[in-house]
Amino acid sequence: MIEENTKRILKELPAGVELMAAAKTRSPEEILRATQAGIQIIGENYVQEALAAFNVVGHKVRWHFIGHLQKNKVKKAVDIFDMIETVDSIGLAREIDKRCGQRNKIMPVLLEINSGREKQKFGIFPEDAENLIKEIMDLKNIKIEGFMTMGPMFGDPENARPYFIETKKIFDWIKSLNLPGVDMKYLSMGMTNSYQVAIEEGANIVRIGTKIFGPRDKN
Ligand SMILES: *Cc1c(COP(=O)(O)O)cnc(C)c1O
Repeated sequence: MIEENTKRILKELPAGVELMAAAKTRSPEEILRATQAGIQIIGENYVQEALAAFNVVGHKVRWHFIGHLQKNKVKKAVDIFDMIETVDSIGLAREIDKRCGQRNKIMPVLLEINSGREKQKFGIFPEDAENLIKEIMDLKNIKIEGFMTMGPMFGDPENARPYFIETKKIFDWIKSLNLPGVDMKYLSMGMTNSYQVAIEEGANIVRIGTKIFGPRDKN
């Protein structure tokens, strides 16, 4: 099923939109099967889980971190991940910068935008993105490459559209500033329920779990 699901979604996506397999709770074997069907980006929410999968799948694919990154996990994270999509504070950015500096590595990051302005969610409010970018910009070992947003969960994906539109708007605004060292090229938004709407509103990375792997038992 994983193979068929993956191939079906890949065929359906317009050119220029990349499919990430959001892999939380999936076994390394399931993740490996998705990569064999053509997945090139794996999204992981937990560093520990990612390590297990990484040991099986390795560098054939790109690894994106999409969970909430605690500072004490940054050291391990920068060894595995090719991109961190959930930067939402200067403190976290500084820690990533420091650990990458020790490894001679430059980490591409996305800022996580809390487009629904939901108190229980991580990410920065859209209106705070510009200031945070201007702080992170000076860090030598981090490269800002765009935004990621979750948006509120709805039964009807049409209800998510305004949040994608708002995120795209601020994405375009930051891009228009042409800030040095900032390369706004990725907009990561849309999940199983909402990715078609997200693509219509400008997403070029969609993060899909359920539609690739089937329903999750936990989280
Ligand atoms: C789980 C998860 C997804 C994928 O969710 P599905 O509804 O299973 O497609 C996407 N993004 C993030 C950040 C996630 O945690």
